[in-house]
Amino acid sequence: MHPPGRDATVAVVRCDDYVPDEVDAAVRRAVGLVGGIERFVAPGERVLLKPNLLQGQAPERCVTTHPAVVAAVARLLVEHGCRVVIADSPGAGIVYSEPNLRRAYARSGFAAAAEETGAVLNYDTGFRIIPFPEGETMKQFPIITPAADADAIVVVSKAKTHMWTRMTGAAKNLFGLIPGLEKPVFHFRFRDEYAFGRMLVDLNECMKPRLQVVDAVVGMEGDGPQAGSPRKIGVILAGSDYAAVDTVLARFIGMDPLEIGTIRSAAARGLLDPLAVRTVGDDPAEFAVPDFRKPSTYAGGRAGPWRRVVLAVVQRFGRTYAPRPGVIAPACIGCGKCERICPVHAITVAGGKATVDLSHCIRCYCCHEICTEHAIALSRSLPGKLLARLLG
Ligand code: SF4
Ligand code: SF4
Repeated sequence: MHPPGRDATVAVVRCDDYVPDEVDAAVRRAVGLVGGIERFVAPGERVLLKPNLLQGQAPERCVTTHPAVVAAVARLLVEHGCRVVIADSPGAGIVYSEPNLRRAYARSGFAAAAEETGAVLNYDTGFRIIPFPEGETMKQFPIITPAADADAIVVVSKAKTHMWTRMTGAAKNLFGLIPGLEKPVFHFRFRDEYAFGRMLVDLNECMKPRLQVVDAVVGMEGDGPQAGSPRKIGVILAGSDYAAVDTVLARFIGMDPLEIGTIRSAAARGLLDPLAVRTVGDDPAEFAVPDFRKPSTYAGGRAGPWRRVVLAVVQRFGRTYAPRPGVIAPACIGCGKCERICPVHAITVAGGKATVDLSHCIRCYCCHEICTEHAIALSRSLPGKLLARLLG
C-alpha cells in the first residue's frame, strides 16, 4: 500500500529521439496521463524549472537533460501562464558564477530553449538557508536563491548511472539546488551512499518539487554521471513522486530499486512502497534495458544475499574494495577542478598536474565526475580485484 497523500503513479511514454515535435508530444502526453499541468502549477506562479546542467556539456554527450525536453516542459508551463526560471548549480567544483552559468547554458542548449519558450535563465548566484526542522539528517539547507524564491519546483532530470549513488534521476537531481562550492561539504558529511541518499530524501521533502519529468530518451550507462556512454531507453517518465519515478527508472536500467539509497531511505521512512508503484501509458516492458551497463563501482544485481552482506561490510569498514582514483598525467591539464571539489583535500595540483593522496581519499568519486579531460581513472588494488572477482 502506498502511503496516503502520495501518488505512486508514473507515466511511461515512448519517445524514440530528440526531434522537438516528438519530444513535445511525448512530454504533453506524459504530463496529461498524471493529471495535466494544471494539477501541479497554477497560472501566475513563479516556477523553478530544474534540469541537469552538470558542467554544461553538449547535448549529444547525454550528461545534461536534453534541451528539447527542457524546452517541451518550459513551453507547457509558459502556455499555462507560469513564469518560468531555468536554474541549476552545475556540478560540484565549478565556481557558481555568472560567466560559468552563461557558458554552461550556451553549451547545453538551455539558452536556446529559454529563448524559444520565453523561460528566463537564472544568473543570481546567491543562496538562502531554508529551515527543515523535521529533517532526519539536516535541519536546514543552503538553497540557491531562484529555488528558495519559487512558488513551485518542476524537475526535468536525466537518466544516468552514477559511480557513487548507482543511478541519478529524479531525487539526486535536487542536489543541484545546493550552491556549487557548498556541495563538497555534503560529500564530506555524508560519506556513504546510503547516508547521502537519506540526506537527498530530506532535501526533496524540504523543497517538495511538484512535478518530475525524466529524460530517458537516451540515458547514460557505464561510468556516469559524466564519463559513461549514451544508451537509448526511448522513454519519457512523469509523476509527482520522486521516489516512485526513480523506482520505475531503476527497473528499466536493470537495478533493484532498493539498491538506490534515496529509494531505500524513502521506503524505510514509509514514504514509498515500491510494490505499489504503478505505471500508466505505454507498456513498461518495452523499455526495459536489463543489460544497461552499470558503473565500474557497482556491486549488486548479480550478487546474492551473502555476497551483499560481505560487500556491505567491506565497503563500510575498508577502502580495500572500493576503486581508487588516480591521475592519468598526460591527460591532466592542471585545471584544478578536482582539487577544488575534493571534500577532504586529498588532491593537489602542482606543476600543472594533479596528484591524489589516497590515504585521505574517501572514495566519493567527485574528482572523476568533475574532470572533463577524463584524466581521473579508477582502479582496484590487488586485494580489491580479488574481492571484486569473489563478489561479482
Ligand atoms: S585531473 Fe582533471 S580536473 Fe584534475 S586538474 Fe587534471 S584535468 Fe583538471
Ligand atoms: S580524491 Fe577521493 S575524496 Fe577526493 S574527490 Fe577524489 S574520490 Fe573524492
